Amino acid sequence: MHSAKRHERRRISSKLADATLTTGGSPEGLDYRPVAMMPDVRVLKIGGQSVMDRGRDALYPILDEVTAAKDKHKLLLCCGGGTRARHIYAVASDLELPTGVLAALGGYVPRQNARMLQMLLAKHGGLFILHDDFEKLPLYFRLGCIPIMTGMPPFGYWEKPTKGGRIPEHRTDAGVFLTAEVLGCKRAIFVKDENGLYTDDPKKNKSAKHIPRITAKELLEQDLPDMVVERVVLEYMQRSRFCTELQIVNGLEKGVLTRALEGEDVGTVITRD
Ligand code: ADP
Ligand code: MG
Repeated sequence: MHSAKRHERRRISSKLADATLTTGGSPEGLDYRPVAMMPDVRVLKIGGQSVMDRGRDALYPILDEVTAAKDKHKLLLCCGGGTRARHIYAVASDLELPTGVLAALGGYVPRQNARMLQMLLAKHGGLFILHDDFEKLPLYFRLGCIPIMTGMPPFGYWEKPTKGGRIPEHRTDAGVFLTAEVLGCKRAIFVKDENGLYTDDPKKNKSAKHIPRITAKELLEQDLPDMVVERVVLEYMQRSRFCTELQIVNGLEKGVLTRALEGEDVGTVITRD
């Protein structure tokens, strides 16, 4: 005999069912402790203008360090855009196209860079991946691959309007930070062409002083005219759950990336707290 109960429709009680979801998603009693999915992955950004655009002299030695480290660490490579992205931003801006269009078009460049990196690293297991391939990362690492993707977040046309301007604020630094955050990685490493952060752009001001360590909040408060990372990253960092450290290293200096992968605080470390 079937009990009446068995045929009742199952209802899932939900603390959010009657919420508007406009409160920032933390209704009372809802404990939020997200899972760190892949905390041991090293998320690396290979700079666009700072590295890729400099060509083989800059890039090849960095790739040597990447391949030497790949059996020791799980490396996820993300690419910057660089000069070609700046060019499309300039042309599209001149044509008065919206920020979302600039983001969509600018997004092709870091993808080109990621594909070129894949070709260069193919014989070492370089694998071009898309955003939707995150779920396959455990398999790729087990196979000894070096997954490579664009650093650009997939906002494209849905890029948020930029305060007082039109260049998309979420570019590849932001995408790399958000990648580390969602994967549950404590630190993202940005490989650029300067030894981290200075009090001013060291390319323009030779007396700029190096800053080895600083909090995101302090850095925002300093309101520097120009910075080594995209400003939104510093804002988001203050609410990050996992990615609480950004390290900026000089990829043009031999051995520095390897030291960073070993956990050494070379370059500049920007921290959440
Ligand atoms: P990427 O191509 O990796 O995105 P960017 O060219 O966008 O790199 O940013 C790195 C550059 O930022 C450095 O080459 C440096 O010239 C410049 N920069 C501007 N302000 C600073 C600063 N305060 N400290 C360090 N670098 C700075
Ligand atoms: Mg940049």
